[in-house]
Amino acid sequence: MAEEATQREAIEATVRAVAERIEAEKTQLTDLDSAIGDADHGANLDRGMQAAVEAIEDADGDDPATLVKLVGRTLVSEVGGAAGPLYGGSLMSASTELEGGIDAASTVAFGEAFLAKVKDRGGATVGDKTMVDALTPAVHTYKKSIEQDDLPPLDSLAKAVAAAERGVAFTTPIRASKGRASYLGWRSVGHQDPGATSTLFILEAILEVAEGYLDGDVERDAASPTIPDDSPAEGEE
Ligand code: ADP
Ligand code: MG
Repeated sequence: MAEEATQREAIEATVRAVAERIEAEKTQLTDLDSAIGDADHGANLDRGMQAAVEAIEDADGDDPATLVKLVGRTLVSEVGGAAGPLYGGSLMSASTELEGGIDAASTVAFGEAFLAKVKDRGGATVGDKTMVDALTPAVHTYKKSIEQDDLPPLDSLAKAVAAAERGVAFTTPIRASKGRASYLGWRSVGHQDPGATSTLFILEAILEVAEGYLDGDVERDAASPTIPDDSPAEGEE
């Protein structure tokens, strides 16, 4: 993609866009969390993203990995709950994949490392009604679009967002097996998962910024809802 200085600009723009989106959706996220959790998801993430914006504006240097790690560290210290360590800690560890810069291959590796860390830390898999249900199809779709279908990163990202959207829809009819919502057992059925929803909002904000930095028209994939597949993408071991 771009020169290093521009990569910093892109990261800053992304952090700002995510923060704005989370702020705009704060009430919705908190409402979702009040149905099956403790009503803090929107407020927690909003506080964390505002702090991340400040941290990145004050940061020196252009290295994408260092900047993304800083965002992760800020989320870990500001967000708390389940989402703080899951989002923040996973960003910190996946950030090393961006050490050589941001491009198609490094963003695939970043997505895979991020998902692996979320699953490792939280112990959740697809079908547990968590952020993993949105993240898994998004990462698998992004990887397949880039590596097998040879699509440009922007189209691949758009497909990943569409896959995350279907993953969010999939959380509503299922029972929670991880996190606070699992305390409700079957009473969690019929409620959309707040963490899967914030994952979708974050990916949508990233796509919006990417549209400004990368060329090409993006066609949103409007395929009908499907159950996300937890198996590796085709051709992958
Ligand atoms: P808390 O439940 O501690 O209040 P938040 O409200 O910030 O945390 O975040 C709740 C969201 O975190 C859930 O909607 C779910 O998507 C996600 N989550 C909770 N536990 C796990 C887990 N073990 N693995 C993956 N995601 C999880
Ligand atoms: Mg909560």
